[in-house]
Amino acid sequence: MKPNTDHNEALFERAKRFIPGGVNSPVRAFKAVGGTPRFVQRAQGAHFWDANGQRYIDYIGSWGPMILGHGHPAVLQAVQKALLEGFSFGAPTEREVELAEAIIHLVPSIEMLRLVSSGTEAGMSAIRLARGATGRSKFIKFEGCYHGHADALLVKAGSGLATFGNPTSAGVPPEVVRDTLVLEYNNVKQLEEAFALHGRELACLIIEPIAGNMNFVRASVPFMQRCRELCSQHGALLIFDEVMTGCRVALGSAQSVYAQSIPGFAPDMTVLGKVIGGGMPLAAFGGSRAVMEQLAPLGPVYQAGTLSGNPVATACGLATLQEITRPGFFEDLSRKTRALVDGLTGAARDAGVAFSADSEGGMFGFFLLDALPQNYTQVMKSDGARFNRLFHGLLERGVYLAPALYEAGFVSAAHSAQDIAETVGAAREVFQTLQKP
Ligand SMILES: *Cc1c(COP(=O)(O)O)cnc(C)c1O
Repeated sequence: MKPNTDHNEALFERAKRFIPGGVNSPVRAFKAVGGTPRFVQRAQGAHFWDANGQRYIDYIGSWGPMILGHGHPAVLQAVQKALLEGFSFGAPTEREVELAEAIIHLVPSIEMLRLVSSGTEAGMSAIRLARGATGRSKFIKFEGCYHGHADALLVKAGSGLATFGNPTSAGVPPEVVRDTLVLEYNNVKQLEEAFALHGRELACLIIEPIAGNMNFVRASVPFMQRCRELCSQHGALLIFDEVMTGCRVALGSAQSVYAQSIPGFAPDMTVLGKVIGGGMPLAAFGGSRAVMEQLAPLGPVYQAGTLSGNPVATACGLATLQEITRPGFFEDLSRKTRALVDGLTGAARDAGVAFSADSEGGMFGFFLLDALPQNYTQVMKSDGARFNRLFHGLLERGVYLAPALYEAGFVSAAHSAQDIAETVGAAREVFQTLQKP
């Protein structure tokens, strides 16, 4: 049954009059897949309802934060209590300390951290701090990784290793990205060449250890090991951007996954967001005491925020972390996510559709490709038109995936076996139609 999208369309038209593109963040506009964005009216558990009252199984979960599903009772209770005590003070609170302690308990490579309000803010501040702490300006990022929209990070590869990046957004002056070196993900040889050329000038290397902004691509263990070794050898800080993967792929975040294969592995700094705020505007960056003490008011690196450590956001984050720390939480979530991925893979195989998929904890990705891609160029070889047919076929059947093929997906604790079975059933139908040219 094709849902009537009238109310969504009417809202989208209205939104476009006063909000650029009708949305407050570009990917929401459905530009990559076409069609009308669904305006969410309310959500509960693994589902949300759009402006037409149509129900969807939600595999975005606010792009990761809603790991418990929507409206978890313990989180609601914590937020309601916090609301009555006050929205914002601009002065310290006990909950900020509790949340810092909780995060450091889960991610022990962090000795000190600072809370901020968005992943963009956290990533930007981490880079500034790395530059301030090392006294160096240049840094490495990887093509296809997203670290928020700070100027120096909106950059694509230049023409060679000796040249630095080019802006990917208008309004970013070339001189601002002059010190950003953009390399290919999982390319050890290029990484070694870059360090050989620029090692002594590098403040840091920032990476999504499991990239979730070019769909789902893991850094290989040898590649990650080389990143660690080269940073240590050259005095550059290894920054893990775990805004998406933090407390999402494992309780200890992606760094705990790599530590299983690389003994003693740890990044120097970690950027967190999404899950640690449980759906409220909250993010963090942290690292060793020596580095973090370079921040104002202790040190010379300035960073601040009126709403940082907001009391309602910290209540939401704390309650969320408490729930995901329960014994067996991640085992259950991982099992569910694998059941989804295995179900989709089986359905594609039965329909003769090229398909590959991967997952870790409550995060997954799939490609209409025979093998899992290893970098951005390979991800972009996916057939966009076929993905869009899959996306819309599933949307019509009440399954909401990310509206672009370069995004990861998320399963929450609230997704039931029934939700997964419904999703796989819907995919089975759509895959049959994908065979036809
Ligand atoms: C979402 C995300 C960000 C940006 O976070 P915002 O809260 O949207 O500013 C940064 N890095 C990664 C890896 C992300 O997934």
